[in-house]
Amino acid sequence: MKLLKQLVDLEYQALSGHFELMQNISEINKLIKLISKLPGLGPKSAKRIILKLINNRQELMKPLAQTLSETYKNVIRCNNCGSLKSNDANCENCQINTKKHNKICVVENIADQWTIETSSIFKGYYHILGGTLSSSNYQNKQDLLLDSLIERVKKNNIDEVILATSATVEGQTTAFYIQDSLKNLNIKVSKLAQGLPVGGEIESLDDGTLISAFKNRKGLISESD
Ligand SMILES: [Zn+2]
Repeated sequence: MKLLKQLVDLEYQALSGHFELMQNISEINKLIKLISKLPGLGPKSAKRIILKLINNRQELMKPLAQTLSETYKNVIRCNNCGSLKSNDANCENCQINTKKHNKICVVENIADQWTIETSSIFKGYYHILGGTLSSSNYQNKQDLLLDSLIERVKKNNIDEVILATSATVEGQTTAFYIQDSLKNLNIKVSKLAQGLPVGGEIESLDDGTLISAFKNRKGLISESD
């Protein structure tokens, strides 16, 4: 037991020494700052990740650097639906033409789409806003791709648009703005209501809550309006 503790202490000292050494190298400093910005990671985990990469230059660091660079160059946002697509390929999210749908679900981000897809509650097209209207880094209404949402509704004979934005102030403001933009289309517009906790983000909802929110969605505009 004592030996084990000594070993752990030794390893900790070695790691700490390594960390101090790492901090004097500007590339490493930059990396620590960048990786710390990723979701769920702080400086401590960033250092652990960097150490792992440095110790596995060929197997991890090189392919990761290459893949990041390729992703940066080749993966873009689709101008039509807001999903991600490869530069040289058609957008899969737009191309679900094998099965015709009559509903579009509007979500804030792709993680929300994945959560809804996993729950299997919705079968239809997705429109990804890429953010909300009033969040600090998202001021541009054009980026929400609302013109193309209206085009998609017309082109695909959509009869219902489901607004699945978060139950946050920004999410609801955005939903209201979209609802207003769609009011002349003579289609049903609904939004997730009951079961959605106030402040709840779609991507963090469990399947049960999400299914209930979809089933009990509230009509905002009906076709006869
Ligand atoms: Zn698309």
